[in-house]
Amino acid sequence: MKVSDVIQYLEELAPKSSQESYDNCGLLVGDKNTSITSALICLDCTEEVVEDAIEKGSNLIIAHHPVIFKGLKSLTGANYIERTILACIKNNIALYAIHTNLDNYSKGVNFEIGQRLGLKNLKVLAPKNGVLYKLSVFVPQEYLSTLNNALFEAGAGRIGNYEECHFNSVGTGTFKPVNDANPFSGKLNELSESQEVKAEYLVSAHLVQKVLKAMKDSHPYEEVAHDIILLANENESEGSGMIGDLDSEMDEFEFLTQLKDIFQCGSIRHTAFLNKKIKKVAFCGGSGSFLLNQAKRLKADVYITGDFKYHEFFDAENQILIADIGHYESEQYTSDLIADILKKKFTTFAVHKTVINTNPINYF
Ligand SMILES: [Zn+2]
Repeated sequence: MKVSDVIQYLEELAPKSSQESYDNCGLLVGDKNTSITSALICLDCTEEVVEDAIEKGSNLIIAHHPVIFKGLKSLTGANYIERTILACIKNNIALYAIHTNLDNYSKGVNFEIGQRLGLKNLKVLAPKNGVLYKLSVFVPQEYLSTLNNALFEAGAGRIGNYEECHFNSVGTGTFKPVNDANPFSGKLNELSESQEVKAEYLVSAHLVQKVLKAMKDSHPYEEVAHDIILLANENESEGSGMIGDLDSEMDEFEFLTQLKDIFQCGSIRHTAFLNKKIKKVAFCGGSGSFLLNQAKRLKADVYITGDFKYHEFFDAENQILIADIGHYESEQYTSDLIADILKKKFTTFAVHKTVINTNPINYF
């Protein structure tokens, strides 16, 4: 099994195109054609994690945070980033990062957190827009099922938990083959009519090229009449943060006590108790203060994330309880998530989780 096989699978679930613009996901170090001995999963790749990989005989490290985040102008070992990269290179270890694309995946970082919190009715907190297209294709009726098979196989027609969705309407198309045309039906320089079906499908942005290729390969016409239109619709299964409901409401003290326990927090920084029950819980792994207003709009009782700044706590405005559980703490189960995804799919190499705690923050 090669590094490229693992990357291909992970990016089918969490496409690189769904990472945030500031991010740097993907293969950061190494050759994608390397055969994997074993894989080591971590939240942050540090020099100690590379040591752990060497000890375990792993030549692929999969990290959540990309250690190369900005451009590097030299590679001399002047800081921990450069030393980590050099250690990977010297030891023939490939380093791959799956970051905001895993955050934005509906079964990704935040889904894992939601499971740990025992929430029901989990939904993406801030679904993305500008990531869905509508494809309309005109096809002779007798070729519709061939086209459908090819497009569904390529990933068209998926909406949430539904697959193979499309809509057909029947009409009449006209065409006149000219010049060097080699028409499927009709005659050169004569206007023809044809009974056609207009078939419409939803397509995710990252699948557009694959779906268009499948359309052209499976369609009988020399020139395939089609429209591909960017939609303003939100994609409910892609975006930042999540929101869900507790089985039964809890008081604030009880909820934070349980939260501290689940995420093994050294401390929780929180806004003043509002003396109301907690039922609707919004959260975002990592640095999620940018989603506070969305959590308030959706009437969450509490918003859980990491990296809240002093002034940002004021934005709670007595409408919501903010609980900052720490960046590392909020994302610590991401390693389990990645390991589980890989173990379910690949059986030809071992998947380890690092034993190194890379949290740079301690509590006194
Ligand atoms: Zn993070």
